[in-house]
Amino acid sequence: MNLKELLQNQPRYKQDQIWQGKFDSHLNSYDQITTLSKDLREKIKDFPWLSVKPILLQKSKDGNTVKALLELSDGQTIETVLMGRVNKRETRENEFRYTICLSTQVGCPMNCAFCATGKMGFKRNLSVDELVDQYRFWQRHLAEKDGGEVDNIVLMGQGEPLLNYDNVKEALNLFIKYGKIGQSKITMSTCGVIPGMKKMIEDSDFPPVRFALSLHSAIPEIRKKLMPSHADNFFEFLIDWSKQYHAKFTSRTQFIGLEYSFLSGINDDDKNLKALIKLASKLGRVRINLIPYNDTTGIFVGSDMEILKKWQKKLMDSGFTVTIRLSQGQDIAAACGQLRNDQIS
Ligand code: SAH
Repeated sequence: MNLKELLQNQPRYKQDQIWQGKFDSHLNSYDQITTLSKDLREKIKDFPWLSVKPILLQKSKDGNTVKALLELSDGQTIETVLMGRVNKRETRENEFRYTICLSTQVGCPMNCAFCATGKMGFKRNLSVDELVDQYRFWQRHLAEKDGGEVDNIVLMGQGEPLLNYDNVKEALNLFIKYGKIGQSKITMSTCGVIPGMKKMIEDSDFPPVRFALSLHSAIPEIRKKLMPSHADNFFEFLIDWSKQYHAKFTSRTQFIGLEYSFLSGINDDDKNLKALIKLASKLGRVRINLIPYNDTTGIFVGSDMEILKKWQKKLMDSGFTVTIRLSQGQDIAAACGQLRNDQIS
C-alpha cells in the first residue's frame, strides 16, 4: 500500500493535516506534524517522509542552475532542475525567483529525434509521491540555502506528462492546494498525446494550469520525422481541440503555448515559418516560445540566434506574442532535452 491508498480511507481533514505537514519545509518527519492523532501517526510511520533521494547535485558555472539526480525506492533514477533568476522588479527580501523543472516518468517512450531522454528508453511512470517529492526536495533545498521559495513549476523534465495522466493530475492539484502555487505558475508541456489532451478538456478535476505543446514544425512530414509520436491527423485535431480548450479555459492567463526548438536546415526555413503562422492563426490565443537547440545527439545543429530573432520579428508582425527562451544550465546538461541520467550509465 502506498500513502495515497492509505489516505483514501481517512476523513478529509486528516488528509489535509498530513499534506499540510508534508508541504511545510520546516518539518522533517511525520512525528513533527503535531496535529496528527497518535493512531494515524502510528499507521504512517513506515511510509518514507521523502520518496526521492539525492545522489548527485551539479551546479552550473554561474551558480544559477542546479541539476539533481534523484534515486527512487526501486533504484531507478530521474533528474530534476532548479533555475534561479534575479527579478529586481518586485521587492522581496530574496530577489531570486525560482523555477523547478520536474520529470513525470523514468525515461520516456516518445523518442523524439533531438531529445536525450528518449535515448534512455521508457522505464515507468512516476507515482504521485515521486512527483510531489521532487517539489518538496527543492523546497527544502531552497529553505536551507537562502530562504528562497519555489515560484514556478514546469513539467518539462524527463517523460511525457499526459502518458501519466492520473498521477500528474493529482500532483498538480496537490501543488495548487497545499503548495500554494497559483495555477498560472505551473506549466505542463506535452508532445501532443491525443487521448490525454481530450481527457483534460472533458475532466472537471483537471486543474487550469498553463498548457504548452512541443511543436517544432507545423509541416506534418517534418514534425513526424522529428517526433515519431506525431499522429497523421494531429494538426486537424489540434485546431478543433483548441476551440474546446478556449471554451473551457477562458481566463486571460490561459493560452496555448507553442514550443519550437531550432534545428539548422531542418525546421528553420521560410516554408516552416509560413506553416507556423498559418497553423498558429487557427489556434486562438497562443504564445510562441522559440527555443535555442541544446546539443544532445551530435546529429543536429542549432540555428543561429539571428534566425530566431528574425522569426520572432516576423511572428510579432503577424500579431503573435513571441518569446525567445533563455536557456540555462547547458554546462551541466540541465537544459531542455539534455536530461538523461548519464552520470551513472
Ligand atoms: N514530453 C514533454 C515534456 C518534455 S518538455 C514534451 O515534449 O513537451 C521538454 C521540452 O524541451 C520540449 O518542448 C522538448 O521538445 C524540448 N527539447 C527536447 N530536447 C531539446 C533540445 N535538445 N534542445 C532544445 N529543446 C529540446
